[in-house]
Amino acid sequence: MLKIENLSVSYGGINALRGVNLQIEENKIVTLIGSNGAGKSSTLRAIMGLVKKEGKVTYDGEDLSSLKTKDIVKKGIVLVPEGRKVFSNLTVEENLILGAYTRNDKDGIKKDMDNVYDLFPRLKERSWQKSGTLSGGEQQMLAVGRAMMTKPKILMMDEPSLGLAPILVKEIFSIIKEIHRLGNTILLVEQNAKKALEIADYGYVLETGSLVLEGPGKELLVNDKVKEAYLGES
Ligand code: ATP
Repeated sequence: MLKIENLSVSYGGINALRGVNLQIEENKIVTLIGSNGAGKSSTLRAIMGLVKKEGKVTYDGEDLSSLKTKDIVKKGIVLVPEGRKVFSNLTVEENLILGAYTRNDKDGIKKDMDNVYDLFPRLKERSWQKSGTLSGGEQQMLAVGRAMMTKPKILMMDEPSLGLAPILVKEIFSIIKEIHRLGNTILLVEQNAKKALEIADYGYVLETGSLVLEGPGKELLVNDKVKEAYLGES
């Protein structure tokens, strides 16, 4: 279990996160929802050691709070950042191989590559294409596929549906469910609260740097406050 205790982040004296507590249990899909600027990305970046933070991050009891990002990745915690950061000059296949650079289990790498190509047939068709020439949606798929190649225990995704056409949004959420079914724990940050809560075992709601609500995804979906503020219903 990944446990985040009393997490705070500030940028130049401005508090972006204040005393946030989260628990991500093994083999669950957990989502963190909230409006623009609520602190969702900052939470993920703090867990990965990408921003200065206060508080404690433990994984199966081991304290990760002061580890470097690369060592956090080695523990199996991986972030797919917002905005499709792929290596544009490399092909699809090269990007995927790079995702596995810390591994040397050749058979496992091959199996995971097959899994990624099964999940994203589009990537298989375009395996020799330079990533910079992929469409936005295809680059997003590649970013998710590359993270899967690290064989993560916990896959954290920052707004994977952002900017995708509705049909691809649907596809990316069903792919997230499939990745979960393959045995991954998922921490999903989304502005698409409805879709995220529909697939999540548990959800947290962040407002201006603090958690204001939490509960099973299905309960949050019917919560009046969530409906009004995040689902466009009242
Ligand atoms: P969005 O959904 O719009 O991406 P978010 O919930 O992910 O928002 P964060 O990106 O975590 O929110 O930002 C939280 C707050 O911290 C915002 O007010 C943002 O402007 C601020 N912030 C984030 N990164 C920095 C930075 N490097 N320097 C200064 N302020 C920052």
